[in-house]
Amino acid sequence: VKSDGRNNYQFFEKNMQEEAQERISLLSKLRVALENQELSLNYQPQYDSTGTQIIGAEALLRWEHPELGFVSPARFIPLAEDSGLIVPIGEWVLNQACQQAIKIQQTGIPPFVMSVNLSAVQFRKGDLVETVKKALATSGLEPQYLGLELTESLLLKDQKRLLQMLSQLKELGVQLSIDDFGTGYSNLSYLKRFAVDKLKIDQSFVRDMENDTDDYALVTTVIQLAHSLGLEVTAEGVETQQQMQMLAELKCDEFQGYYFAKPMPADEFVLYLQA
Ligand code: C2E
Ligand code: CA
Ligand code: CA
Ligand code: CA
Repeated sequence: VKSDGRNNYQFFEKNMQEEAQERISLLSKLRVALENQELSLNYQPQYDSTGTQIIGAEALLRWEHPELGFVSPARFIPLAEDSGLIVPIGEWVLNQACQQAIKIQQTGIPPFVMSVNLSAVQFRKGDLVETVKKALATSGLEPQYLGLELTESLLLKDQKRLLQMLSQLKELGVQLSIDDFGTGYSNLSYLKRFAVDKLKIDQSFVRDMENDTDDYALVTTVIQLAHSLGLEVTAEGVETQQQMQMLAELKCDEFQGYYFAKPMPADEFVLYLQA
């Protein structure tokens, strides 16, 4: 097909404009999503090294708009970050997850770590340490049962302030994990400096580890690295029994993924735990 450069350009420009319009319209909807109670959390269980015991759960944000239906986090989280809305939303997530963890404990289920995703923006704006303290105090959740997942990219900037905030969070007694490990920055020296407890191997490496020898090598290296630093490793995105077995052979500590269970709404998750 012979392409007409000018038409392509116009087409491209129109798409950019549409895209920008869509973002603006979505952002205005997101601004009222909290008040309108359109946000909720799903929970995905995390299993121990034998794949039989639930030792944690990750809280994952969901947005259901009355007309648009479910909007993917991949679409609205970046908007929430750019606009700063992630600060109040993130505070809501922390409170909600802590309250849900307490509700689960009250049903007699043995306590486990409830993990929440944090955006880098929450470290720059607002008072994250205070927000975490309040969420713990209001809910009554003991700090060792709260996990915070941070991405590697966060550790690039503003090291001094970040270091201070992370040690304050650590002092509270919460668990800290590096999310999507392996996808970001390659200078690993930060692992020594920051008081993290756990690495989460990104699902992109787990996905192909059965067939791709590079991914297999990477997963192996991450697990060895973590263990040599005294850190635990969670594999995310585990979808098959073979992946689980390979990871178990490599002494991976925890598993999370569709092979075990998909993220579920709170009420469904409680039933799942009781089953
Ligand atoms: P993430 O933290 O890496 O979360 C894991 C994502 O993988 C989730 O997507 C989860 O539903 C999905 N997943 C879990 N198991 C499997 C599996 O076996 N196979 C596959 N293909 N996927 C699996 P989700 O819920 O769409 O969330 C996407 C991202 O949005 C999260 O990635 C996280 O970065 C962000 N996010 C979600 N909730 C929050 C939140 O409350 N705050 C912030 N700041 N970010 C959030
Ligand atoms: Ca995560
Ligand atoms: Ca991930
Ligand atoms: Ca991610």
